[in-house]
Amino acid sequence: MPGAMQSTLPEYTAPVADLLFVLCDVLRIDRGVFDSLDRDACAAVLTEVARLAEDRLAPLNRSGDLQGCRLENGVVRTPEGFAEAFAEVCAGGWYGLDCAPDHGGQGLPHMLHSAVGEILSGANMAFHIHAGLTHGAYSAIATHGSAAQQALYLPKLANCRWTGTMNLTEPQCGTDLGLIRTRAEAIPGAEGRYRLFGTKIYISAGDHDLAENIVHLVLARLPDAPDGVKGLSLFIAPKFLPAEDGSPGTRNGVSAVRLESKMGLHGNATCEMLYDGAEAELLGAPHQGLAAMFTMMNEERISVGLQGYAQADRALQGALAFARARRQGRALGPAADREAPADPILLHPDVRRMLLDQQAFTEGARALTLWGAELVDLARAGDAAAAARLSLVTPVIKGFLTDKGVESCLVAQQVLGGAGYIEEMGLSQILRDARVTTIYEGTNGVQALDLVARKLGAGGGAAIMALLAEIAGFAGESAPEEIEAEFLAPLRAALADLQTALLRLQAFGTTDPEAALSGASDVLHLFGHVCLGYMWARMARAADALPAPARRAKLAAGRHYMSRHLPATALHLARIEAGAVAGLPLDAEAAE
Ligand SMILES: Cc1cc2nc3c(=O)[nH]c(=O)nc-3n(C[C@H](O)[C@H](O)[C@H](O)COP(=O)(O)OP(=O)(O)OC[C@H]3O[C@@H](n4cnc5c(N)ncnc54)[C@H](O)[C@@H]3O)c2cc1C
Repeated sequence: MPGAMQSTLPEYTAPVADLLFVLCDVLRIDRGVFDSLDRDACAAVLTEVARLAEDRLAPLNRSGDLQGCRLENGVVRTPEGFAEAFAEVCAGGWYGLDCAPDHGGQGLPHMLHSAVGEILSGANMAFHIHAGLTHGAYSAIATHGSAAQQALYLPKLANCRWTGTMNLTEPQCGTDLGLIRTRAEAIPGAEGRYRLFGTKIYISAGDHDLAENIVHLVLARLPDAPDGVKGLSLFIAPKFLPAEDGSPGTRNGVSAVRLESKMGLHGNATCEMLYDGAEAELLGAPHQGLAAMFTMMNEERISVGLQGYAQADRALQGALAFARARRQGRALGPAADREAPADPILLHPDVRRMLLDQQAFTEGARALTLWGAELVDLARAGDAAAAARLSLVTPVIKGFLTDKGVESCLVAQQVLGGAGYIEEMGLSQILRDARVTTIYEGTNGVQALDLVARKLGAGGGAAIMALLAEIAGFAGESAPEEIEAEFLAPLRAALADLQTALLRLQAFGTTDPEAALSGASDVLHLFGHVCLGYMWARMARAADALPAPARRAKLAAGRHYMSRHLPATALHLARIEAGAVAGLPLDAEAAE
């Protein structure tokens, strides 16, 4: 019956064409570090991964949510079908795209790895987190490991034959890692070997049945460690201790003792891990653990930003299909179909507004994240300025794209009306899964602090000054009238707001640190809007490469962003200028 309620949303479709536009036409992947990589090669990879994601992973998204993970006799069982699908993705070599060929990777750009990550995460976020954390563990060992550790672990982690975990959080400490209590004791007579004692909580994929071994990276304290974060060391503690030939040997003293019951991500076990004398070795130098762990955390932060907009894209796909099919009321102007009793809700301006809000965010976020991935490639190739810029924009990609990603999923839910609130439709799961992205890997409040207190001033502010100059240069270039008026002029106005905010922040920094920290989230959002505006202006200039209908759609979404979202910079500036937020009484009784 036309216009009747659908019972579920259509499955996920990978945005291959838009990924190719960003990679090849906007960022010109073929002109960067990897100049031998052309559009056909990128298209071949993305098309193959899209097939796998759409046919194998997306159908497990809902069943994974319903079944969840189970802890059985100390072992976590993942939902039905996960193990087979995981083996299939591993066999394709898709998890190790940007890992070194010496370790069994494909040596391709991180940009392509990120594009593939969006597709895999969009299809099934809970499933993909198993691989995402493994890649972070690979990078940490590749950067800080000894030759022996690299030879043992990297070939197994590169393509997820063994998976990795990240163990920071404990019951008494999340944001404040200086409170970590897990301790490491040297094993007498065993040079370089330690035993770990302590409890870690909220550990993603702490145990599962997808891989033959799990490599836990654990922050702990040596006996002589100073207090606080300066006393943290990083350890490698595998679930099975590797035998002489490198195969999984005896079971180590680490296990998942409890699984959290949580709002979403049911297909990924969030574990309480007990380290009961687990054998471990140091990764990097003693007391330098936080710096080593940051290699993993920084990578994960970009991946979490990616998760935020990948879920928003999935939600948009559902909302768009729903808005085309659902008929309610008559739209302004001539009826689309006089025979039907009502028009598709897509024709109502307010519904179009909601859909364009999502599209403008998602496509801008895709460009921003792949631009961040380009910085990873440049930094790996030894470009120090790119490394500094990456460090600057990492909290923005994590914080801004997940705040807006969750908001975008909420807007998609609104498009569905009551159906958006019904579990069976599927939109609710997308929102539940996406919600954690603003919380884990450092809450978004902490991302804002990182930006304001550390990143903006790093290196005397060189990275932010260089980026502002680059955006100003781009926005000042001569361009066709339409692009100048609709993209470059708004970008210049937003940039001016950011420059004013940074000056104000600098002034607060010397006299009123409370005011600086009170405005931190607004600085992050203001900066995020400018970055997205810059990406939209770049996409508008590159849109000539698109076929005419796609170009029209791209420019329409871009105009929507520039005219309806970018002006938010003025609001964020006003909030920053408002200074310190009011104090609240610590004592509940004093508030009465
Ligand atoms: C599903 C899930 C998976 C997770 N996976 C992992 C994992 O794999 N490994 C791991 O180690 N951890 C993991 N975590 C833990 C996660 O990283 C932490 O929950 C997160 O860092 C926040 O710590 P917390 O929960 O202790 O909150 P708290 O640190 O108690 O923070 C509470 C609130 O106070 C704010 N706050 C705290 N300190 C400050 C400050 N100095 N200034 C301003 N505001 C502040 C925070 O922003 C937040 O709003 C996971 C969590 C979840 C929910």
